[in-house]
Amino acid sequence: MTVLEPQRPGIPLPQPTPVSRPFWDGCAAGELRYQRCGGCGRAVFDPAWDCRHCGSGALEWQVSGGRGEVYSHTVVWRPQAPEFSAPYAVVIVTFDEGFQLLTNLVGATVDDVRVGLRVRTAFHDVGGITLPYVEPDGS
Ligand SMILES: [Zn+2]
Repeated sequence: MTVLEPQRPGIPLPQPTPVSRPFWDGCAAGELRYQRCGGCGRAVFDPAWDCRHCGSGALEWQVSGGRGEVYSHTVVWRPQAPEFSAPYAVVIVTFDEGFQLLTNLVGATVDDVRVGLRVRTAFHDVGGITLPYVEPDGS
């Protein structure tokens, strides 16, 4: 069974915006950043100007430990864009700080993907931007 790898350069890439720029700068620096609300204390992701839980504007960037577990997943065998290599495993990860991130699992086979799998962040440059993939957390 093939071990899943990051996509190669040439795929459509995210375009950082003023609100998401700190997140992407963090990825380039090897940090998984998220926001925490000074009003209600909850973690917020995707990057936002105001808290999605209580509406407060008191969001502060924090650095995640980069570990969490697979909340949900699917395996893509027929990508809708020809630039993507298949198969790849799309996962929603619940990080230990309480936020979720949609990403891809690498360093494992499609048979390894399951709900509850412990993972850690693995940053990969895919040609101009660093993406936060996850891999099984063996430690
Ligand atoms: Zn809040």
